[in-house]
Amino acid sequence: GNMRVASVEQLALETSLRKAIFKNEFVIYYQPKMDLDSGRITSVEALVRWQHPTMGLLPPSDFIPLAEESGLISAIGELVMERACRHARQWHQQGLGDICVSVNLSAHQFRKGNVAQIIDRVLDSTGLPANLLELELTESLIMEDMDQNITLLQELRTRGIELALDDFGTGYSSLSYLKRFPVDTLKIDRSFIMEMDTSSDDAAITRAIIDMAHSLKMRVIAEGVETAAHLEMLREMGCDGIQGFYISKPVPETRLQEILRDQIHKPRVKI
Ligand code: C2E
Ligand code: MG
Ligand code: MG
Repeated sequence: GNMRVASVEQLALETSLRKAIFKNEFVIYYQPKMDLDSGRITSVEALVRWQHPTMGLLPPSDFIPLAEESGLISAIGELVMERACRHARQWHQQGLGDICVSVNLSAHQFRKGNVAQIIDRVLDSTGLPANLLELELTESLIMEDMDQNITLLQELRTRGIELALDDFGTGYSSLSYLKRFPVDTLKIDRSFIMEMDTSSDDAAITRAIIDMAHSLKMRVIAEGVETAAHLEMLREMGCDGIQGFYISKPVPETRLQEILRDQIHKPRVKI
């Protein structure tokens, strides 16, 4: 029946995912984030894709769930971290600016308990200053083992690493927990942003998240900004930064270099 077919397919995919790690068939795309005060790209998010030998370029949704299930996500995450930090170090050396690179972490990487050592090793081998690395974490990841994870995050923060809470608003979003999380930045989930110009509820929620984050001394980034109308509303609400197709889709590293080079000579203006 269907279930058997699905599991055979799954097994085949898992086998080719293992090979992909050995051969490092992963490619990183980068999506710019723009600071609303300066109108400049100050950081970029590393988003992994799999250059599959026969199926083409696969998005994370096609293989991250399986990678999580099988535990292969830790190895993939390490490859992404290594490559992203190496790229960021190169942008820095090429005079493209102090661009911070954000890497998404999965719960599995935290459960293994060696995430700090891996980060130390990667920063050391690539020479990237710690303040140019940001980790994107979710609430559910932190809450899996809250006390231990908060201690770990505090330790990473003392090294100068930036921490961001991803997809905010979709998980527990418990305010009593939030104030304990040692994060610098809150990323509002794109589900609130996409319809904020037509849904007054979504606009009200977005405004409330921004005000709350600011009173907790956190920066706020809005994800999924697709239109000028979104941008204007977010600016008026005092949001610090935006990310989304309106600024740029995730792009290959060579394209990102062009984008960063283009902004070097541009005056600092509000967009
Ligand atoms: P995320 O971290 O929330 O990343 C943002 C996703 O939203 C990206 O999808 C991006 O392409 C998409 N996006 C950005 N702006 C817009 C917009 O304006 N409109 C719309 N409709 N979508 C937008 P992508 O690249 O497919 O990544 C999906 C998810 O896969 C990421 O969500 C992240 O959770 C996960 N992921 C990606 N790379 C890694 C990785 O290296 N490690 C781990 N553990 N997870 C990763
Ligand atoms: Mg993210
Ligand atoms: Mg997100």
